[in-house]
Amino acid sequence: MTEKKTESKASMKAAVFRHAYEPLTIEDIPLKPLKSTDARIRIETCSVCHTDLQFIDRGLATSKTPPLILGHEIAGVVEETGKNVTSFGVGDRVIVPATISCGKCLACKSWNETQCDNLKILGNHIDGGYAEYIAVDQNQLIHLPDEFPFELGSLISNVFVGAFHLVYDRVNIRQGETVVIFGCGGFGLSLLQMAKLKQAQVFMVDIFDWKLNIARDYGADGVLNSNKCKVCEEGVCDMIRGKADVVIETIGTPRTMVQAMNVLHKGGRLVLSGYSDNTIPFLAGRIIMDEMSLIGSVGAPMREIPDVIKLLKDRKIRWQEMVSGHYPLSQINEAFNTLRMGHSIRTMVHPNQQET
Ligand SMILES: [Zn+2]
Ligand SMILES: [Zn+2]
Repeated sequence: MTEKKTESKASMKAAVFRHAYEPLTIEDIPLKPLKSTDARIRIETCSVCHTDLQFIDRGLATSKTPPLILGHEIAGVVEETGKNVTSFGVGDRVIVPATISCGKCLACKSWNETQCDNLKILGNHIDGGYAEYIAVDQNQLIHLPDEFPFELGSLISNVFVGAFHLVYDRVNIRQGETVVIFGCGGFGLSLLQMAKLKQAQVFMVDIFDWKLNIARDYGADGVLNSNKCKVCEEGVCDMIRGKADVVIETIGTPRTMVQAMNVLHKGGRLVLSGYSDNTIPFLAGRIIMDEMSLIGSVGAPMREIPDVIKLLKDRKIRWQEMVSGHYPLSQINEAFNTLRMGHSIRTMVHPNQQET
């Protein structure tokens, strides 16, 4: 006769991505055994992101063959620790950064972690956060300040630190420059606030007035609903009275990328950060003769999270208005619908929330 064990749970609920063009399925998954330096995190929030929709709705291939647990914007509480975990204890509140870099390759050693040869993105290369738990090495965790709610931890893990990387590392935005941002999602609203900290003039373009109203409230110098102008480029140039020094495209459609290019001033910088696997028709001569720069920006270096936390503690960045909905794990497909419809800036999934 076997004795009844009193050990913790053996399985967890997770939303599993099995096939593109199909809803995620809620399944019971065995808990992975912890490595000695791993902590098991009880996930409190994981926000839904357009990157996940690229896999679900557009059939973009994930780096790990499904079945895969998507989700990379995670905050939670340490539930259990491996025997060699020293930096975190049970009950600690943590941010799980969206990307894991190796720390050993040339890119990592030269502070280019986003180009790490061994980069792993949660919910893409390895299982992510649409689940009750995730096991993560202690070196891949950041303490979430006590006064920060979990929702804010999820925002920090990806959109805030990604925006910080773009504004502070990739594009040296200077005081007084005119910056146009296409897309008023969580990333666009984060970029807006950080570009304002650089004392730029910042203008936002989107197709939803309610998002543009938040942008105006967050300090945008002008906003444009591109659905309400005949030619988007003309509307933008009227708004900014000329052309822009920096244009940041966060949406990732060929159309908005070309529009972004068309409103750029001579010598301007075009920044592409909304992922696309399309070919974009650019007039090469314009890039040459107008000495334009084309800059890509991706990822969210973990080492910049403390800088982002400081901006938030100093109340330089606002965020509450960016959280636009809350869903239990069982309703994750409804959470994604809010994103599909454009009704969401950041919708939070709460994997451990009890159903009512
Ligand atoms: Zn994301
Ligand atoms: Zn590396």
